[in-house]
Amino acid sequence: MSENELLAKRWSQAMMGNYGVPPLALVSGNGALVTDADGHEYVDFVGGIAVSALGHGHPALVAAVTEQVARLAHSSNLFMHEPGIALAEKLIELAGDPDARVYFGNDGAEANECALKIARLHGRKLDPAGNRLAVVSTNNSFHGRTMGALSITGNAAKRVPFEPLPGPVRFVDYGDVPALRESVDDSVAAVFLEPMQGEGGMVPAPAGYLAAARQICTERGALLVIDEVQSGIGRTGHWFASLAEGVRPDVLSLAKGLGGGMPIGACLAFGGAAQLLTPGSHGSTFGGNPVSAAAALAVLRTIESDGVLANVQRVGAVLQAGLRSLTGPLVAEVRGRGLWWGIQLTAPVAAAVEQQALQAGLLVNAVKPDVLRLAPPLIIDVAAVERAVETLRQALARVAAEVPA
Ligand code: PLP
Repeated sequence: MSENELLAKRWSQAMMGNYGVPPLALVSGNGALVTDADGHEYVDFVGGIAVSALGHGHPALVAAVTEQVARLAHSSNLFMHEPGIALAEKLIELAGDPDARVYFGNDGAEANECALKIARLHGRKLDPAGNRLAVVSTNNSFHGRTMGALSITGNAAKRVPFEPLPGPVRFVDYGDVPALRESVDDSVAAVFLEPMQGEGGMVPAPAGYLAAARQICTERGALLVIDEVQSGIGRTGHWFASLAEGVRPDVLSLAKGLGGGMPIGACLAFGGAAQLLTPGSHGSTFGGNPVSAAAALAVLRTIESDGVLANVQRVGAVLQAGLRSLTGPLVAEVRGRGLWWGIQLTAPVAAAVEQQALQAGLLVNAVKPDVLRLAPPLIIDVAAVERAVETLRQALARVAAEVPA
């Protein structure tokens, strides 16, 4: 039995069934490469699901985490620590609004839980009778697995088994401005939107959608919450996808790439929304702990000092061109931005393509039965992208040969 098979057996005898049994165990990584338990090497176009912004084993991240864990691993929220303050200051600077305020949790779901609590407080403040409590979200969206974040996730298969959930929540079609305008009435406290639906199958917002949402929310007094858990921290070639297109949310949630692999989520709030949480209203024992904060600071500083946003734009353009050159009966459309791309297939064979690519030394993710997602480290170079595109071309051709016409 191979080491991967042995670990799969132990996994299935120890872990709950929520993930199924993954295909491989990863043991190490270096840059955009990862190595599995049997010593096979892969080019990593999964990136820990759009997390490993600096790739694997980046010296700045290793140094920051190592130094911080040796100095002080944890303080709880009963005490301050400088890395957390410095990280909040840096995020405020990047968001370009000195009046913004930051809350740290551990992941994307927790960042959105904070946003939901801010939405509740906003709604109650607007309407002392407590009626302005509805939230508008979009069909096909994903905001996390905790009960609050799940309540606004527009995927019935994931959500319905766990009902009743907090509400009321109204779902409208993503990208449909008239539907959004109609749904945001005087009972709505907040609208939650992703700049591009990642888990939903890599669906970008139509041009002008976020700006229209901003206008609608402002007119109706609802908060605009932009979930940048997946799109934020350089993934699209900009610090924040929404701000890059001139749309300023009231609340912005972050996680994934922020910690470069260490768990951290952040909820940024602007204007009046930044003042709604008061002592005792929210918290987390681990949220923004010193080690994760030091890691995130190292990520942000390295993105700045090493010109990583420019790399995303330059190498992302090469990836885009390469993906657009993929032809054949299986490719319906490629869509995305920066180093964050989806390949829409003409048949539900994404898992088979994922498997073929894996066997050829490339990790990609079948985010939907008919959509592949690519989210490599933001430090990846042109040569690795070109190799990956060729591997994908072959994987698609192999699967195409098996699919009945
Ligand atoms: N929001 C968005 C847009 C996401 O893509 C995800 C995860 O994929 C989440 C929230 C939840 O993040 P986490 O898994 O870190 O809780």
